[in-house]
Amino acid sequence: MKKKNHKYIFVFGGVMSGVGKGVATSSIGRILQAKGFKVNPIKVDPYLNVDAGTMNPTEHGEVFVLRSGLETDQDMGNYERFLGLDLKSENYMTSGMVYKSVIERERNLGYRGKCVEAIPHVRDEIISRIEKSADINGSQISVVEIGGTIGDFQNALFIEAARVMKMSHFDDVLFVMVSYLPIPNKIGEMKTKPTQNAVRQLNSFGIQPDIIIARSEIPLDKKRKEKIAISCSVRPENVISAPDIESIYEVPLNFEKDKLGEIILGFLKLKPQTKTDLVAWKSFVNKLKNAKEEVNIAIVGKYFDTGDFVLSDAYLSVIEAVKFSAFHLNRKPKISWINSKDFENGHSKEMLLGLKKYDGIIVPGGFGESGVEGKIKVIQYAREHKIPYFGLCYGMQLATIEYSRHVLGLKDANTVEINPNTTHKIIDVIPDQKKLIAEGRYGGTMRLGAYLAVLKKGTIAHKAYGKDIVEERHRHRYEVNPEYIEKLEENGMVFSGCSPDGTLMEIAELPQNKHPFFLGVQFHPELQARPLTPHPLFTEFLKAAIGHKKRG
Ligand code: GLN
Repeated sequence: MKKKNHKYIFVFGGVMSGVGKGVATSSIGRILQAKGFKVNPIKVDPYLNVDAGTMNPTEHGEVFVLRSGLETDQDMGNYERFLGLDLKSENYMTSGMVYKSVIERERNLGYRGKCVEAIPHVRDEIISRIEKSADINGSQISVVEIGGTIGDFQNALFIEAARVMKMSHFDDVLFVMVSYLPIPNKIGEMKTKPTQNAVRQLNSFGIQPDIIIARSEIPLDKKRKEKIAISCSVRPENVISAPDIESIYEVPLNFEKDKLGEIILGFLKLKPQTKTDLVAWKSFVNKLKNAKEEVNIAIVGKYFDTGDFVLSDAYLSVIEAVKFSAFHLNRKPKISWINSKDFENGHSKEMLLGLKKYDGIIVPGGFGESGVEGKIKVIQYAREHKIPYFGLCYGMQLATIEYSRHVLGLKDANTVEINPNTTHKIIDVIPDQKKLIAEGRYGGTMRLGAYLAVLKKGTIAHKAYGKDIVEERHRHRYEVNPEYIEKLEENGMVFSGCSPDGTLMEIAELPQNKHPFFLGVQFHPELQARPLTPHPLFTEFLKAAIGHKKRG
């Protein structure tokens, strides 16, 4: 299925992981969009999990759920945010997914008696998935990010697929390597050797990079560019300097300084379709850089066990959603991490008093028992002290439990996820989920992806969205137990959003005469927050937080 004239840009990582290959891929997409092209980003993950849903966020970062319900890698979130697109399942693949379809085809005699092998069969499955993805979106350019680093054993088949695609698409395929130039402390000089070695390694796969994006702490000087050029067989102007910068959203603008867009189009023999339009993007970046007045937001979570730097990845979309709305309101977000488990020990009283300094509190999504009682204490404090509170998924369920315990007086109110035998099962398993759990079928079986919610007029939610029906993405197995809805409502909780058939509670809030902002959502609004279109509920929450700060 070879799509005519479609262009493919493959992005490989050299030297080491974690240097921003995903951001580079997203930024390449953004600048091509700015030149009038329809861009189709594809992420290829070498692991054997069929999707990212079964992975622990502390090890792998957050699970980003697509509209379709596919559970993917956090890079997909970056693509959606940079490109303003709702991506499809075809924009993502893992080795597990690829092998699964090859094996299923083999079981169904799809290979007609052949011996099924990694090459050609698995490789060709990869190619056909990339080509199919290019086909469905009406796009002109696919930017394919190959996960992992060159030299890893696991991604070799994907690199081989890229090489073979070059053979069948020739001028329509471009290779980019994102590399890293260390400045060792003792030497104090930027070293090009690791990049040279990484390019050699890529060469050994039969691939010559056309462009090298050189990540480093500081910009590359002319000498380094020339050295890389001569030793890696690229022209000096095709070595793009990518120094560390304050915000990832500046990367497309920086790339443009080195004329990366023009260079790419030159290679692909394309003419820009419009004058480069990065006006809205630049104005967002300006707001981001110029915001001075702070708004203090606390995120109360439990994924704190592996050190702070991993932590932010586990809640990446939540952090970005807070930032977009804060910048939109010309505020500088100061995000603090609070370990919910700290509220479960003897010092919880003093800890709770410490919450006073925050303008708003978020309890994000989560699973299982650990840290839950601490979260409930924090929610109670926020409710009783009128600190703006925003609960995301688990954060909504726990707010409902807190309300049931302390307002309705149902002391053992709980979720059956934690205590299946509790008398008051305020949060119960969604009926369809019962069989799946009993059979131990966990992978990709939650209530996932986009569903509609109907909003009640006169509520915070309705005011924020400014419409009657919204679509949001989900990832959960449990819900507010319908048996308790009436009781909760009689006691002042308002279910301001529910599924169109009225059975599933999607948004719970308290009226504004009782609390400036106490709202929880069963879905994940953070997944749809974008730099140029911040999410209305995050914006409403931040407005309340700013108001709270003013009142002092
Ligand atoms: N653990 C809860 C559930 O499965 C909440 C999930 C979440 O926060 N994503 O319903």
